[in-house]
Amino acid sequence: MPISCFKCGTCCIAPDISTLGKPVGVPCVHLRADRRCGIYPDRPAVCRDYAPDELCRALHGLPPAARVGHYLAVFGLPDADDAK
Ligand code: SF4
Ligand code: SF4
Repeated sequence: MPISCFKCGTCCIAPDISTLGKPVGVPCVHLRADRRCGIYPDRPAVCRDYAPDELCRALHGLPPAARVGHYLAVFGLPDADDAK
């Protein structure tokens, strides 16, 4: 059964995305306040190719404030303060 995106926006905040010049732990400039993509029809391939997976299920079970930190820990990425 496919895993659905519950539109938490974590994958638009946590990882670095070189195509967008986005550093780790910083919200994408295109991420709207409602956690939706502001350029959805024109988003780059790296975003189009990102598919919800088991991590999304785990994120869904966490409080919103804990999601980015969990994502970073899973991928061994530094948090935003460490990345400066
Ligand atoms: S982290 Fe997963 S559930 Fe959250 S917006 Fe990204 S794909 Fe959707
Ligand atoms: S371009 Fe859209 S989908 Fe891609 S990281 Fe930014 S807000 Fe998310």
